[in-house]
This record gives sequence, structure tokens and C-alpha cells, in this order.
Amino acid sequence: MNNFKFQNKTAIQFGKDVIDNALHDAVAQFGQNVLFVYGGGSIKKSGLYDRVMSKLAGLTVVELSDIAPNPKIASVRAGQDLVKAHDIDVILAVGGGSVIDAAKVIASSKFYDADPWDLVLDSGKRYQLDQLPVVDILTLSATGTEMNVGSVISNPETHQKLGTGGPQSPAVSFLDPTLTYTVSKWQTAAGAIDIFSHLTEQYFDRSANDVTSGMMAGLYRAVIKNAPIALADPDNYDARAALMWASTMSLNGLVNVGNINGWTVHPIEHELSAYYDITHGVGLGILTPRWMQYSLSAETLPRFAQFGREVWDLTGTDEVVAQGAIQATFDWIKALDVPTTLPGVGIVDKTHFEVMAESAVKVGRLAQAAYVPMQAADVVAILSAAMTDD
Ligand code: NAP
Ligand code: FE
Repeated sequence: MNNFKFQNKTAIQFGKDVIDNALHDAVAQFGQNVLFVYGGGSIKKSGLYDRVMSKLAGLTVVELSDIAPNPKIASVRAGQDLVKAHDIDVILAVGGGSVIDAAKVIASSKFYDADPWDLVLDSGKRYQLDQLPVVDILTLSATGTEMNVGSVISNPETHQKLGTGGPQSPAVSFLDPTLTYTVSKWQTAAGAIDIFSHLTEQYFDRSANDVTSGMMAGLYRAVIKNAPIALADPDNYDARAALMWASTMSLNGLVNVGNINGWTVHPIEHELSAYYDITHGVGLGILTPRWMQYSLSAETLPRFAQFGREVWDLTGTDEVVAQGAIQATFDWIKALDVPTTLPGVGIVDKTHFEVMAESAVKVGRLAQAAYVPMQAADVVAILSAAMTDD
């Protein structure tokens, strides 16, 4: 096992109605001036907005709304203006990954006097800066952003969607599974696939170890089992709770300790989102089985067979189990009722494949760090395979 350092300072408040007693103090401990960040209106429709506002009584609240899925740098720039103009002490982010991701970069931008896109292009800059505390209320189980330092921000002008890290994960995250009852089938499926993909990116690592592999197998099983239950029965507390905690535990740094941490499918999906603004989890669902098929070789066979046995309970020879696991992954995604091809999300030709592939290789360091090292031609082959279900 490789050497590692593990630390995670996010406090978790998990369970039904946890915001009612604890939200006010969780925010107020950091100061008087609050930037309340949220998305396109789902929290107004569900009543959560009013509930949150009632808990913020006595504090000075400034609002930033309309954070879009695949959050755009324009929202971060607007947030930077507000945190500076109102001398904000703490950010309260209420929503899914897009809202929380944007909030984290805004939290850094208070201490930066130029364009915050610089901070996305170069995370190193963020580590030199102070960062405002972020408190969040998660409303969608998917990204793990509620307990990690990552954010993914898009710049539509340059066709870039880039990950950035910062010095602090959220200070406090409120995880109430009942707040995810209203998540649509599409977003529930996409979220579950995102969790599955985070596990896959970390399970298939050249330095994976037995401890974290076993933990990931448990998380995989929880997601595989509970996603269809949540789709069929959106108010099922235990299924929503399992997905929520699996989201958090799959990407809070715990299961990748000692890894090389070279991800492949996420960098490729980020290109699709950057060019076509598709739903992150749906893009991952289209790409993951193709990446698996492309990566299966004599060298990787034992790991794919281990995946089939530990995660999918398959038996037989390595070849049979590995191939069965890839098929099981595809079938599980398809059963979640999301498109399984690129044309299914409106990407009907290969116009940008080459340029997207080159960017994915560069940004994701696919030639150096990936489980199966890749060049642009490999990425083009994976994208091409995703054009049909054959
Ligand atoms: P999202 O983009 O935050 O939200 C998707 C949609 O779901 C929005 O339209 C939102 O509506 C709606 N929604 C959220 N909660 C809802 C609820 N309780 N009821 C009804 N509708 C609800 O989705 P996400 O999957 O959580 O985040 C995706 C983003 O995170 C992508 O940009 C992805 O690249 C990034 N990501 C980040 C990390 C990380 O570690 N930081 C990891 C993986 C992916 P409203 O806008 O109206 O609220
Ligand atoms: Fe993701």
C-alpha cells in the first residue's frame, strides 16, 4: 500500500429534518453576513427556500440564484462581486453539486482581486488564498462535493469544463434524504451513475489496495441496489438515504487513499458537457461500459474479474466474469431509463471528437496517470463506440 495522508474536516449532519435545529448555528458561527446560493428554483417549488430563510432570521442574507447545471464561470464572477461588495462571512449553498461547486470557488474568489477563472485554470492559486467557510444543504445525491474540496466549473466561451481544488471542503454539510424525494427520475438516475462512476474511477487504479477495494465494493452494491428502488418509489427513505451516504462516502477521499488517482471517464465526459452541456451522470453512463470494454485486456483481466465477483456476484472463469461484469454494468444503466448512446443525448456526429479527445488526454493526464494509459486515438475510439448500442 502506498503512503498517504488522510484528513477530512467536513462536519456531517445526517437525517430527516436535521436543518431545523442546527442550521442557524451552523451558519451563524461564522459571522453575520451570509451569501445564500441556490439554483434554478427547485428549492422554491419544494418549500425548502422558505424553510431555510426562516432559519436565517437575524442574519444579513444576500442571495445568488440561478446557478445552472454544469455551473458556469459567469455565476462565479457574479458571486465574487457579491462576496466582496457585502463583506460576506459565510456561504450557504442549497442544492445539488452544481450549486455547491460554484459556492466553493466563490468562497475563494473573495480573496482574489482578478478574474476567478484564473482560479479554475490553476488550483495552485486557490491553495495560496484564504477561503470563506461553506455550509451546504445537499438536495441531490451524486457528486460527493458535500465532503470534498473539488469543484467543476464550465466556461462556455472556451468550451472548457475543468475541475479545481481548494484548501477547504465544506465546513458543515446537511444531508437530509427527504430533501431528495423531489429529484426527477432523470436526475436520480444520473446521480446514481455519477456515484457508480466515481467508484469505478477509483476501483480501477494501478495502486488500488484490498482495504479500499472492499469498501468500494460495499458502496457499489448499495448504489446498484437502491437506485432502481428510488426510481420506482421516490419517497423511499432508506433508498434515498443509502444513495445520499454512498454519494458522500464515494468521493470524500476515504476510498482512494494510496491510489495514483488517474481518472479516465470523467475527463472524457467533461468534454462532452463542455461542448454539448449534457447531464454529467448521463454522459458517464454512456461512456463507462465503452471504457470498460476498451480497457479489458490480458493485463487488466484479473481486476475486471475481481470487479465482477466482488460487485456483481458473478462466478466462472476470469473471462466470463469480466465480460459479464461489463454487460451487467451496461444493463444496470439501461434499466435506469437513461440514453445509452451519444445520439441519445443529441450528439449525432463526430465533429468535435478529435479536439475533445486531445483535450481530455491533456487535462486528464490520460497518457500518464490513467489505469489504462490513453492517447487521443483511444479516446476517439471510445467516443465512436458510444455512437451505437451494437
Ligand atoms: P445539479 O447540476 O446540481 O442539478 C441538476 C438539476 O437537478 C438542477 O436542474 C436542479 O434544479 C435539480 N435539483 C437538484 N435538487 C433537486 C431536488 N431536491 N428536487 C428537484 N430538483 C432538484 O446536479 P448534480 O448531479 O448534483 O451536479 C452535477 C455537477 O457536479 C456537474 O457539473 C458535475 O460535473 C459536477 N461534479 C462535481 C463533483 C465534485 O466532486 N465536486 C463530482 C462529480 C461531478 P435547481 O437548479 O432548480 O435546484
Ligand atoms: Fe462525477
